[in-house]
Amino acid sequence: MLNIKNLHKSYITGANKLHVLKGINLEIAEGELVSIMGSSGSGKSTLLNIIGILDNYDSGSYHLNKELIKNMSETKAAQYRNRLIGFVFQSFNLIPFKNALENVALPLYYQGVNRKKRNLIAEEYLEKVGLLNWKEHLPSEMSGGQKQRIAIARALISNPEIILADEPTGALDTATSYEVMHLLQEINKDGKTVIIVTHENDISLMTKRIIRLKDGIIEKEEFPEMVMAQTL
Ligand code: ADP
Ligand code: MG
Repeated sequence: MLNIKNLHKSYITGANKLHVLKGINLEIAEGELVSIMGSSGSGKSTLLNIIGILDNYDSGSYHLNKELIKNMSETKAAQYRNRLIGFVFQSFNLIPFKNALENVALPLYYQGVNRKKRNLIAEEYLEKVGLLNWKEHLPSEMSGGQKQRIAIARALISNPEIILADEPTGALDTATSYEVMHLLQEINKDGKTVIIVTHENDISLMTKRIIRLKDGIIEKEEFPEMVMAQTL
């Protein structure tokens, strides 16, 4: 599904150059549930943003569904994102003056789906995340966990192939974090490829494959289920 070879990325600010990704090699297959782990500043978000076609890279290659993603126009990148990728962020990024239903329906609004149809579909996804009863509520009336579930429903509504989540539990308490992770696990079981950036060990252990980033390269990979099977 996605294939990254010898990928490099630097940020240039003024006279300074910060080499963040220093030769990333990574393959992720359809249907995987992967976490990208690393300490703060290790380049996790940079890598995820490149995967999500939100940012460019300097050298190497990134293929998504066999297509080279490089120096794409913003229009084309947006088309790819809308069709293939759903995003979930630490800070939820809900629109404060729109209710839960309208927030979930938003991607369909941008696709030109009429109000009646998009609201019907949004209700379906609200039901999926267990929040249909909250459809009239504003984000400010919901807990962090509820807001993240709304954000997940919004990410799913355009039926993307991949869900990219950048620290989706970063603003949540432990119990709520696990609820959100269980939801992402279910979504993966439904067939979606899910890639989660986190710096929390327990969260990464809830994925099937951990990719550890350190000093701009992939230091190692782990497979939690296999590790557990060995220690039993
Ligand atoms: P992580 O998500 O692992 O915390 P990031 O990918 O956000 O790390 O950042 C990696 C490094 O790149 C950090 O040192 C950060 O300060 C720097 N960085 C991130 N984005 C930018 C940017 N747009 N311009 C300049 N430096 C950046
Ligand atoms: Mg980050």
